[in-house]
Amino acid sequence: MRASEWADLVEIRADYIRNLDIRRLLREKPCPIIFTLRGRSEGGVFSGPEKSRLEILLRAAEEGADYVDVEFSAFWKAITDRVPGDRVILSYHDLVTTPQSLETTLDAMSLTDAGILKIATRARSLSDNLRIAKLLEYAKGRRRNVIALAMGREGIPSRILGPYWGSWATFSSLPGGEPTADGQVPADEMVHRYRVRQIGAETRLYGVLGRPLGHSLSPQIHNAAFAEREMNAVYLPLEASGLDDFLEFHERHPFEGASVTIPFKEEAYQNAHSLSVSAEETGAVNTLLRKEAGWHGENTDIDAFLGPLRRIRHLARIRAVVLGSGGAARAVVYALRSQAASVCVVARNAGKARRLASRFQAEYGRWEELHQMRWDVLVNATPVGMYPQVDESPVPPEWLNGELVYDLIYNPTQTRLLKDAVVRGCKTISGVEMFLGQASRQQQLWLGFPGPEDVMRAALEQALTK
Ligand code: NAP
Repeated sequence: MRASEWADLVEIRADYIRNLDIRRLLREKPCPIIFTLRGRSEGGVFSGPEKSRLEILLRAAEEGADYVDVEFSAFWKAITDRVPGDRVILSYHDLVTTPQSLETTLDAMSLTDAGILKIATRARSLSDNLRIAKLLEYAKGRRRNVIALAMGREGIPSRILGPYWGSWATFSSLPGGEPTADGQVPADEMVHRYRVRQIGAETRLYGVLGRPLGHSLSPQIHNAAFAEREMNAVYLPLEASGLDDFLEFHERHPFEGASVTIPFKEEAYQNAHSLSVSAEETGAVNTLLRKEAGWHGENTDIDAFLGPLRRIRHLARIRAVVLGSGGAARAVVYALRSQAASVCVVARNAGKARRLASRFQAEYGRWEELHQMRWDVLVNATPVGMYPQVDESPVPPEWLNGELVYDLIYNPTQTRLLKDAVVRGCKTISGVEMFLGQASRQQQLWLGFPGPEDVMRAALEQALTK
């Protein structure tokens, strides 16, 4: 059983097993086993009669399963009458929401003979994690063994912080396998990336705030940096419903700092207590740093964008064309203008290109005119060519007639655009450099020293290979 490599306890979701042979399954268990046979109404796939389901659970208990999981909505007495209470996990699932009154549900479950009570709800916001924390606090006062977690991407903090909050266990998926519930983090990542077993009262909290966050590789690289330095810190994915949602969570479980990504960069700018010059000028905050007076907003994208470019050439009076008119384009245009470069913004929406250009005294042009433009540096600040559309490029190869092409995309590291640029004899810079640079600068702001770029690079490469 591969899962025991990372886990202390393995749950067998028997509803996913065809031709179930319980005796064989439990014969050589390398660690304690929870046996679960979930029906459809509780999010599982078992579709046989309820009576057989309960009989199979009893069989599993007889054959040596250390724990059997039976739902509070089922005829649980059939199990608690025959299996010792300390081997029964009584579970309650709300697949739609995280209700306010979880304590009432727990009280009702406490009246049974089950020794372990499990409540799993569906998070809709980051603050739903707080209800889980509150429930665990309540359970501690009553000396009950309780597993509590919130499903969904918004609920990931409850899975990672749950054991520290007092949850008897937390659930993760088998590395390389399919999760059995939404929001499960693979077991190897729980152990090595988030270092779940080490999280305690002294652990400093950081995270990336955004929605959706599925694409973010920031937890990989920041946690790798913390682990390398043996810091008692964890960096969480924080899929929030808004900045207020994050602030509410922060009030109960304070963060030292946070990265901010789409769509919260402007909201973070508006709510920061103080701002760096680059954040002020771009109207966007990608880094929050907790200070005594309140949140300080920074924008590390600017220096991170300029760093690799400056290593290749002087920027004063160069001619740059920037493709796109979104958040990244704004940071790039500001960065280039701050170096006295002349900039032309080209975007599919001419109105947006014009507005961005006029904000930073740049020019703007149309996509169709691109082939006639002369440039030293061409920057792609659109997502064209990003995984999974890796064969796309925003510009035909024959239009690549300048000195250097800089693609902000970091997945893949070598985009179609960059490959074409190499063939056309241009120098190239991949978005990987900016991505690592902005993260390293965030660590500098939070900790006082830059992130170890080699460690962060290796973590990023590993994540991209996956
Ligand atoms: P954004 O705010 O959504 O802006 C995207 C821009 O690209 C918009 O101007 C959009 O035009 C344009 N666009 C989208 N699809 C297009 C298409 N098919 N053809 C032409 N234009 C298109 O996103 P962002 O935050 O600026 O990010 C843009 C890219 O930069 C992403 O790939 C992101 O991963 C990358 N990035 C990298 C880093 C790094 O550290 N390396 C940092 C930030 C961003 P409309 O306005 O008309 O939709």
